[in-house]
Amino acid sequence: MEPVKMVDLNGQYNKISHEIDSAIRNVIRSSAFINGPEVKTFEKNLSAYLSAKSVIACGNGTDALQAALMAFELKPGDEVITTPFTFVSTAETIALLGLKPVLVDVDPQTFNICPDKIENAITSKTRAILPVHLYGQCCNMDKIIDLARQFKLGIIEDSAQSLGTCYTFSSGLKKMAGTIGHIGCTSFFPTKNLGCFGDGGALITNNSDLAEKIRMIVNHGMKVKYRQEIIGINSRLDSIQAAILSIKLKYLDSYNEARQKAAEFYDKAFRENPGIVIPFRHAQSSHIFHQYTIKTKNGVDRDKMKQFLASGQVPSMIYYPVPVHLQKAYRYLGYREGDFPVTEELSKSVISLPMHTELSDPQLGYVAEQVNQYTK
Ligand SMILES: *Cc1c(COP(=O)(O)O)cnc(C)c1O
Repeated sequence: MEPVKMVDLNGQYNKISHEIDSAIRNVIRSSAFINGPEVKTFEKNLSAYLSAKSVIACGNGTDALQAALMAFELKPGDEVITTPFTFVSTAETIALLGLKPVLVDVDPQTFNICPDKIENAITSKTRAILPVHLYGQCCNMDKIIDLARQFKLGIIEDSAQSLGTCYTFSSGLKKMAGTIGHIGCTSFFPTKNLGCFGDGGALITNNSDLAEKIRMIVNHGMKVKYRQEIIGINSRLDSIQAAILSIKLKYLDSYNEARQKAAEFYDKAFRENPGIVIPFRHAQSSHIFHQYTIKTKNGVDRDKMKQFLASGQVPSMIYYPVPVHLQKAYRYLGYREGDFPVTEELSKSVISLPMHTELSDPQLGYVAEQVNQYTK
């Protein structure tokens, strides 16, 4: 058995290396490294995949969030509601623009922002909600959309971990993550479900005015070359990355299915284990398992378990060990320990197991056996 890796990008590449290599060579031969035709083609491919009107590629997922917030033309001091249990990009981009991140605790089952707690956080300065679809599963978008309508708020979805996730509204209507709110933001960081070979990101919208504005924002505020109409940023997807992404997009559903299969293997292996909670599956969302994240319980020490796994050559990761409100950089917001008890408890009890498209049954069996050996 090959050693188990947390992610296996090389194994995934090996299966499509001919296609990828020739696409990269084509871009090199054309020398159109910036804004080559591959970028437009990928934008079209991704918008068709998501059934969205517009996709605007950019440099990375964090830039996508920043450009989305800029497109709303918010004023310093305006408030944006988001989650403390996430990667920092959301709070970071809100703060960078002089806006105020307002944090709301997460749901103990899904680990996504708790919609019932959002309303209490809405003030006269609230302008937008920024839900993060964590680990591959959508937030409760029925309730978030109701609130946004009621209070006239924008919705920016962070679907960096959920590209390919499908949400079913209580009406039965289905939409892909990233196409539900006003703007969706995603990342093609190499380890994401759709990853390129460097940095990459995109914004998704069905609103043509927003699409036009976003296109200007990511291109120095220009529509016409050397005519800056608004203050923008420089954020582009390289042609080489776009060419790679168009190829990998064809396999995204099969990649996500491979992750789901691995997750089912783990689920079954851990069902009887009293020391851990397996990932909750929300009835209204598919789950594409960007991460397979379990929670320890009944006195099982998460950090000791991580050490035990490492000693048996089983890698694991903690997403996320310190919530946003307890990070030094965000102390100025005035939150304190105890403000978000669910998030704080999760930061001490979650652990993500190896999850990627290339896991074999013997590897999954070995990981499960090691986890069970420690916790049972
Ligand atoms: C990866 C990630 C981002 C940032 O994406 P980059 O491309 O690394 O800037 C933002 N939000 C979430 C939830 C992520 O997982």
